[in-house]
Amino acid sequence: MGDLRELYQEVILDHNKCPRNCRRIDNPTCEASGYNPLCGDKITVFLTVSDRIIKDVSFEGSGCAISTASASMMTQALKGKTVDEALKIFGRFHDLVTGKTQGDNSAQENLGKLAVFTGVSKFPVRVKCASLAWHTLKSALDGSSETVTTE
Ligand code: ZN
Repeated sequence: MGDLRELYQEVILDHNKCPRNCRRIDNPTCEASGYNPLCGDKITVFLTVSDRIIKDVSFEGSGCAISTASASMMTQALKGKTVDEALKIFGRFHDLVTGKTQGDNSAQENLGKLAVFTGVSKFPVRVKCASLAWHTLKSALDGSSETVTTE
């Protein structure tokens, strides 16, 4: 388990150092901002959605390693997916970080690389960091213009 945990940490640190899709999209079809006051994480998510398919997704923001890595990996996981698939993945990810799928290996395998956030469930404060990007994404898809806060 020790090696596995180290590997997970490595993935998170790598995405924090070199976040993927960390840029602004010109003329996005939807965008939303999120804020986690507990940690100070701030994020804006941009999306280009057409025919209910996420053609492009990106983010900008500043925050801790967990929130940045989570946003980075989220954009990788969702690009090319349908909106419905994205919401389903969000549900699974949320169950994972809140510990609902603890010990459920198939639930973790379903999430692929996103399973690196399994360990977060042990730290309630970090759950908000890990899920901020996802809540912000959902808000963007819902067309809400209010800033999401995790409080
Ligand atoms: Zn944070």
